[in-house]
Parts: sequence; C-alpha cells; structure tokens
Amino acid sequence: MKLKHLKNIFHEDLDAIYGEDEVDSFFYMLIKDYFDVSRIQLATNPKYAIDDPERILESLSFLRDHVPIQYIIGQTEFYGLPFKVNNHVLIPRPETEELVERILKQTTNTGPIKILDIGTGSGCIAISLAKHLPNAKVYALDVSEKALAVAKQNAKLNAVNIEFIEADILKTETIQNLKFDIIVSNPPYVREKEKALMKPNVLENEPHIALFVKDNNPLIFYEAITHFAILNLVEKGVLYFEINEYLGKNMIELLHDNNFLNIELKQDVFKKDRMIKGIKS
Ligand code: GLN
Repeated sequence: MKLKHLKNIFHEDLDAIYGEDEVDSFFYMLIKDYFDVSRIQLATNPKYAIDDPERILESLSFLRDHVPIQYIIGQTEFYGLPFKVNNHVLIPRPETEELVERILKQTTNTGPIKILDIGTGSGCIAISLAKHLPNAKVYALDVSEKALAVAKQNAKLNAVNIEFIEADILKTETIQNLKFDIIVSNPPYVREKEKALMKPNVLENEPHIALFVKDNNPLIFYEAITHFAILNLVEKGVLYFEINEYLGKNMIELLHDNNFLNIELKQDVFKKDRMIKGIKS
C-alpha cells in the first residue's frame, strides 16, 4: 500500500476528531516509528509503498478510540529527553516541564544535594533533574510497582542514576533516615467533580490513580507530603509542588499554616495557578 493512500485514510477517518494538522502529525510520527520514513522522505518519494499496513491501521483504530499517540508509540519527550510511557503512567505534561525549569533555575547549589520526587510516575521530574544536576543524588518514590518499572527503564534510557523507592506516601514517615534538600511532587489533584472537564483521551486512557482525588479531601496528598517534608527536609530545604489550578489559595494556606517561608505561587504558560514552593523554616 502506498503511504500517501494510507495518509488519505487517516484524514478521512480522523480529521473530524482531531483536525487536519494534528492528524498529519500523528501520521508522520507513526510512519517514522514503524517504517523509519520521515516526512521529507515521503515528500521526495511520493510513491513510497509498504508491505504490511496492519500495524499502522491498528494504530488508526486506537486513535479513533482516543488512545493518546504517546501510548501507541510508547514514547514521548519531556524537557528535551526521551521517555517511555504506557498506561501505568501519566503522559508528562508541559506544565510539569515548567516546574522542572523553575527548580533548576532556583537551585544554585550544584553540590551533592539530595532530592526526592514523590509520585514519580514515568520518572520525568526526577530524571530531568538528575540529568541537569549531575552532582545531586536523586530519589524517586511511587506507590505503583508498574509505574516504577517504567521509571527505571527511563533512568536507564537517559543514563542517570536514581534511587527508586516503592512506598505509599500516605503511610511513609521517613526514608532510610535521609534528609533532603529538595522535595518535589506532582501528586494526583484532579477532583472527581472536574472529570466532566476532561477530554476522553485522558479520562479513558490515563491511570486514574495518578489523577484523581476525592471532592471532599482534594489536598490529601499535599497535606501528607507537607508533613513528610517538615520531618524530612534539611533546615531551609525547599518543597515544590505542581497544583490544581483552582486550589492555589488553599495551597498557600497549607504551607503557611505549616510555617513554610518564602511561599511563591506561580502560574503556568496558560495563566493558571500551577506551581507553589515554600522553604522549611
Ligand atoms: N495536569 C494533569 C491533567 O490535567 C493532572 C496531573 C495530576 O493530577 N497530577 O490531566
């Protein structure tokens, strides 16, 4: 089958769902991944044909069912680095890249500091920090064994050394009696009542354990991590969170009530309250 013909099938089937440009980009990602053919190669060789279109047609049906392209290909990019993903981990978001950027900008100590990422998922935060702070010792915790398997693969892929810990932060008091200079977390923060605002590609495919919290207790992870941070940060250690855009005020209150200093709430590029940091007093 000619790739050009296949491309037309993609547009016929998917344009109504995703729009022409996004379908183009899906198609080129898939032919690169499956047949190692680039956009330019196809443009200069428009008669390019493939023998077995089954796999790519299967991907087409996944796309029709709103499966994210990152899960279909099994890989994505975060902070310029490659990350394997599957449906046991969230697909890293651009907002989280902003959090990493902020931490890197504010981390002037390039010595052997200790950093802990809680709820690491794919490992995107821990691994990109480790890559850019080569002297830091980075620890990454998750409750999900299957997520940790992905994160371990990603540490290897990016050639960084991370200490992985399988634990439930709601039940964890200390970790190997270590004290950390930085604790960072992007825990589940979407309230059940916000489900209606979410797109089917997220809702039907990404792990709910990484996304949702109960309406009546939306800061459950933030409260636990803040208490953990009081016990496990060094003096003047920094706590960073990615947060629910609607709960900025509540987060300031939480950190304030727990005597954190220099509390800074920051918006993401979409002008939504998305990150907060505080320094342990
Ligand atoms: N920002 C993610 C979303 O809107 C949620 C991430 C999280 O719950 N930590 O899908």
